[in-house]
Amino acid sequence: MSKTDHGTRRLTSPVDGRDRLASARALRNFPISIIATTTVAAALADWQQQTRFLTGVAALFVLTIVVMLFLIVRKLLQQHQLEKQRLDTAIDNMTQGLLLFDSSQRLVVCNQRYIEMFGVSTDVVKPGCTIRELLQHRKETGSFTGDVDEYCSTLFHKMAQGKIFQTILDTADGGAIQVLYRPLPHGGWVTTLEDITERRRAEERITHLAHYDALTDLPNRALFREQLKRELARMREGEQLAVFYIDIDEFKSVNDTLGHLIGDELLKSLAVSLGNCISASDFVVRLGGDEFAIVQTAIKDREDVADLVTRMYRAIRQPYECLGHQVTTDASVGIALAPQHGGDLDQLLKNADLAMYAAKAAGRRTYRFFEPEMDARVKARRVLEMDLRQAIADGGLEVYYQPCVNLQDNRITGCEALLRWRHAERGMISPAEFIPIAEETGLINQLGEWMLTTACAEATTWPDDIKLAVNVSPIQFKDDTFALKVVAALGACGLSASRLELEITEAVLIRDDEAALAILHQLRATGVRIALDDFGTGYSSLSYLQRFPFDKIKIDRCFVDGIAESSCIVQAVVNIAAARNIVTTAEGVETEQQRDLLRTLGCTEMQGYLFSAAKPAAALKQLLFSHRGRREAAATGPRAPVSVRRARRGFQI
Ligand code: C2E
Ligand code: CA
Ligand code: CA
Repeated sequence: MSKTDHGTRRLTSPVDGRDRLASARALRNFPISIIATTTVAAALADWQQQTRFLTGVAALFVLTIVVMLFLIVRKLLQQHQLEKQRLDTAIDNMTQGLLLFDSSQRLVVCNQRYIEMFGVSTDVVKPGCTIRELLQHRKETGSFTGDVDEYCSTLFHKMAQGKIFQTILDTADGGAIQVLYRPLPHGGWVTTLEDITERRRAEERITHLAHYDALTDLPNRALFREQLKRELARMREGEQLAVFYIDIDEFKSVNDTLGHLIGDELLKSLAVSLGNCISASDFVVRLGGDEFAIVQTAIKDREDVADLVTRMYRAIRQPYECLGHQVTTDASVGIALAPQHGGDLDQLLKNADLAMYAAKAAGRRTYRFFEPEMDARVKARRVLEMDLRQAIADGGLEVYYQPCVNLQDNRITGCEALLRWRHAERGMISPAEFIPIAEETGLINQLGEWMLTTACAEATTWPDDIKLAVNVSPIQFKDDTFALKVVAALGACGLSASRLELEITEAVLIRDDEAALAILHQLRATGVRIALDDFGTGYSSLSYLQRFPFDKIKIDRCFVDGIAESSCIVQAVVNIAAARNIVTTAEGVETEQQRDLLRTLGCTEMQGYLFSAAKPAAALKQLLFSHRGRREAAATGPRAPVSVRRARRGFQI
């Protein structure tokens, strides 16, 4: 016990040997000290309990944190795994091949597409392999044909410069792969590989379409110009070249009558045949529509060109089997030679075109070499065309009428309307000159309509028994509404349909044109008469008479001219016509001998200068009435002497 009156100690109890805490206090007023002891265990019991509790709580807390951390890490790992999976799926399903290299030129990523593209082994091409090893492996497996070292050094050089590097790889199966190397900021690079085979083929197809004709697969006009330009530039001193411009004759009527499919077949067959008739250094092109061209190179002399002309016509004129139809065709061909007819591309082409134009003007089915005068002729024709347009607009055309006389009773049965053009500078221009221009330019439709309405209106002023004949161009039959136009013209002036006669040439029927035949039947059904003009020229096939029930045949002037020699032909025509109740009119009767012979042969009517040339409307009307008066006088009064009758006729002519 200390000197103080109280104290506490920890001691081991001698009684029970337990660790105890003893506390003593001396009572101040009594000589007593109170000692209390308790075991340490009892004294610390609360505290220990509390500590245990707190430790438990802490442990639980720590456990919770650990569990949560575990869960978070697991979640993160799962997410990472999922993202990696997604990334791998995306990379493997790319249409492009993909490679990622690190700064030590080792592979980090390689997608499935790349493996498939080159059929490489995943045992070699895997993360960690170098670009050199990869290329070496591809070289061994045949998908890389270059030099590995050279390729790598070029690539490393470009990557070191930080430049994007691109190459096109041609594959063994004819494909193409575009390879793009993109350097990364911290070293390494990404390579993307795209299969551009289809794109390249599409581009090639577009380029092909721009230069080749889709139907025949021949070079088109654009490529023709390029190739010809090259040939002209390549041509050396003393060498020659020929350009053939080929226009298929009457191709339009093949299209119109047999249909476009057969027209297309014919063009394809012609393209093949033309290709077969040239030599290896020549070429054929399709300029468009029914126009082709041949360029003949390495010409030694004119014989070479003549040989090709023969081969070309043989090719064109052979019969073609087109979808079950046998089609024969022909062509108008213009030939220009370089350098004689022009060393410059445009000049040469223009001259070949002019020569072709001349071949057409010469009646088609033939060829022409270019001649310098052709240019002047075409220019003159163009001027004439412009003047004709102007004349139509200004009303500068007139209609003349030529009477047609019955050979038995000398009665005027009708008059043929004939166009006249009084040109301010050139005077009277023959329809034989300007009708073809009007037909070529389509002006004939306008002209024909005007002619029809004018002549019909004029015919209403004639005696009722005088018919009107109007010439109709084959071009006008291309118009489906032609029959309606005729009916409208008749209706507008009140002329009876039975007084109108339309003169057509065999060209209308030449190709068995169903549409034209239909129009003719429609017209005939309205009461209009149809005459076959110029019989004896052209084919003059008797089958035309079978094809359509003509009311009249006009025997061409050429037979009347030499009637003495051709009387049996005229006789045959007259007999055939008579058997079918068809009237015959002889054209261009200029002499009494011709007239007398025609009368003997049984020809029905005549037309010609002997009786009267074509006259203006007023003069014709006078002729009609005076002729009628004379006939009536002759019928009632005493017959005049022959000399007087001749004098009268002279007056009429
Ligand atoms: P075409 O239909 O055969 O007309 C007859 C042509 O012969 C007319 O020439 C006429 O003047 C001429 N002629 C008449 N009698 C004689 C004669 O005795 N001797 C000679 N040498 N010739 C005679 P034109 O008027 O110059 O007409 C020429 C051609 O022009 C016509 O031949 C016809 O095919 C065409 N033509 C005339 N007018 C028209 C028209 O309005 N439309 C169409 N489509 N063609 C027309
Ligand atoms: Ca005529
Ligand atoms: Ca005629």
